[in-house]
Amino acid sequence: MTRHLKKAELHCHVEGAAPPTLTLLQAEKYGVDSAHFIRNGAYVWDDFTSFIACYDLVASVFRTAEDYAALAEAYLLELAAENTIYSELFISPDHGEAVGLPPEDYIAGLTTGILAAREKTGIECRMVIIGERHLGPENVIRRADFTAKLDHPLVTGFNMAGEERMGRVADYARAFDIVREAGLGITIHAGELCGAFSVRDALDIVRPSRIGHGVRAIEDPELVARLADLGTVLEVCPGSNIALNVFPDFDSHPLPAFVNAGVRVTLSSDDPPFFHTTLAREYEIASAAMGFSDDAIDTMTRTAIESAFVDAPTREALLDRL
Ligand SMILES: [Zn+2]
Repeated sequence: MTRHLKKAELHCHVEGAAPPTLTLLQAEKYGVDSAHFIRNGAYVWDDFTSFIACYDLVASVFRTAEDYAALAEAYLLELAAENTIYSELFISPDHGEAVGLPPEDYIAGLTTGILAAREKTGIECRMVIIGERHLGPENVIRRADFTAKLDHPLVTGFNMAGEERMGRVADYARAFDIVREAGLGITIHAGELCGAFSVRDALDIVRPSRIGHGVRAIEDPELVARLADLGTVLEVCPGSNIALNVFPDFDSHPLPAFVNAGVRVTLSSDDPPFFHTTLAREYEIASAAMGFSDDAIDTMTRTAIESAFVDAPTREALLDRL
């Protein structure tokens, strides 16, 4: 069991963390028939494309600032109950806009939930704004611009997610220049659905301090060495990788190989109920299925705090709690 281990999570999409029970209540509240996307208390999808479609349906029943406050608080309380001291939530104002919720209200709702959870449990949380790759470069650049001008104390980073097979990273370079100039933390999804080239592109063009997944870098030993040299942190989500068939099983997952090669890694749950996981289960997988010692797992948690998008005093306070 890993209940005794302190935890930190860098990679979790807020709508993807919605407990199916909460989503059911939301669907009822808005008179939406959820039978085609929730069955027997679980989300219904079978490949990446239908996963994205299901995700959008789940997101569509969160429509007001209050709905988002309830969602953020529910997830953070769940994390805190598992001994988690820090969470970074990926938030996507495009989902708010899709249901007519302005970005400012979407973020205000999430902030209310985050502060309520901190008040109750002490869990620290920051938000990272997502540009949705499949909505095209123009939209991602617009989102970066919004993020750069936002100046919100809990919004500290920018990320690009969504359909990784759409376009090349170079098409989106301008978005990252904008947020880099604004002093925001930068991470990017790469090396999940696409191979090592996508991680190389991310390093060459975006120069992020962290990469979401990045696990398919394992296909290129030179690239693995480069990640270790640069100290780039991988946000590794083993349960998600197996659920999406990036690797066939935990035995063939490259997390141990990255650690052996000196790459800095962390553990996250990505979209936990979609992948039948939780952050606690990811820690459990690292321990029981991959054989990492408590010390090795603590190092991953420390890496997460060291690479978190927080100011220096917050980082010190979190490191003190480890
Ligand atoms: Zn992700």
